Amino acid sequence: MSQVILRFAPSPTGFLHIGGARTALFNWLLARNQGGKFILRIEDTDQVRSTKESIDAILEGMTWLGLDWDEGPVYQTDRMEIYREHAERLLRENKAYYCYCTPEELEEKRQRALQEKRKPKYDGKCRAQQSLVPGRSPAIRFKAPQEGKTVLPDLIKGTVEFDNAEMDDLVILRSDGWPTYNFSVVVDDATMGITHVIRGDDHVNNTPRQILLYRAFGYPLPKFAHVPMILGADKARLSKRHGATSVMAYKDMGYLPQALVNYLVRLGWSYGDQEVFTMKELIQKFSLENVGKSAGVFNPEKLNWLNGVYIRQEKPETLAELLLPFLEKQGLKPRSMDWLAQIVKTLQERSKTLVEMADMAKFYFRDDFQVDEKAEKKHLLPAIKEPLEMFLGRLESVAEVDEKSLEEMFKEIAARKNIKLGSIAQAVRVALTGKAVSPGIYEVMRILGRDEVLKRLGRAIKKL
Ligand code: GLU
Repeated sequence: MSQVILRFAPSPTGFLHIGGARTALFNWLLARNQGGKFILRIEDTDQVRSTKESIDAILEGMTWLGLDWDEGPVYQTDRMEIYREHAERLLRENKAYYCYCTPEELEEKRQRALQEKRKPKYDGKCRAQQSLVPGRSPAIRFKAPQEGKTVLPDLIKGTVEFDNAEMDDLVILRSDGWPTYNFSVVVDDATMGITHVIRGDDHVNNTPRQILLYRAFGYPLPKFAHVPMILGADKARLSKRHGATSVMAYKDMGYLPQALVNYLVRLGWSYGDQEVFTMKELIQKFSLENVGKSAGVFNPEKLNWLNGVYIRQEKPETLAELLLPFLEKQGLKPRSMDWLAQIVKTLQERSKTLVEMADMAKFYFRDDFQVDEKAEKKHLLPAIKEPLEMFLGRLESVAEVDEKSLEEMFKEIAARKNIKLGSIAQAVRVALTGKAVSPGIYEVMRILGRDEVLKRLGRAIKKL
């Protein structure tokens, strides 16, 4: 079998949307699964809306997700000559014509059709125009067949039929020489040898027009697969009002790229009951057959759950690196990366995002935290003063602290003072962290270090 060639073809008019990212992922996964090629093509022929910032944002998003491309980025603006040649070929073969209708004229006809409750459609006025009118720049229109049906064999939707009578004589090159989407996409997909076009099903109505163009050129059709849109909880198409839709916003909210990848792939594709996949497994197991026909509903709780899974699986040293920028945002500087990795280890089990982790880590760095009032009232009572002082005395007599000896100290004090080990542990916990819930208290003390523990304890005792 010959090599499969897939592409992701974003228009650089904004950030990388999570819907776009899922489309990119499906293409990328199929290419990797089949040992094929994945091309990144930037569809930047919309001069008004395309921006350099958006191109950078798309590349940044792809890179963050780990989606590498074998070719590109290919910019459509570098291929203007190819579009012109193709348009000229259709003109030569009498499959396209020059159109001199003015925007005003077209608008007027459109309005009239709407008034008369007809579907607006170009009336074919210039269909016979095969020569240029000196001094005027025409658009070039495709002479679309008006009869019969166009059949789209879609790998996800099944067969979809369109009446050719419904289809317009599409402008392929505007009067300023710029190609339109349906035209440039066909020229590119055909000349790049794209074998599978996987894209959002918001494009499904464009596809019959594209098929007609393939036919006109005599190019073989690629396989088409239109992926259902991602919806919000209210079943409306996912948009800003449902929350963040930009891939990089998820990075800023403390998600790991593997978790977002896993989440997005599963949102539309399934493999039995399995929820968690390594990238390697995704590549091995991905196929279009298991992409569902119905739209996936974006579920932030599930994403949080998955992110928690990935955070728990990750090496503390790696997480420490990832956590660093989130700490910096709060002005927190670790004593060393090794120290930070120890902190991470104590928080991995309980954090769903890196933002949450950075928040929870705060007490390790600073002692000016707000003490939880309820916890203070419950655990830091005058009766605990003596046991705490005793503990402080023990600590002062050692140079360093380790979990084992700390536990011994607690046990000994609890026995001597006839109190529960839990009472002294909770009192120390609130004194050191400001909260009644924290990672294991012995670990916390080891990480804070003897001097810091002494300082915080002393302060708490003074208040009793
Ligand atoms: N530039 C188009 C878009 O971003 C590409 C659609 C396609 O994949 O053909 O929607």
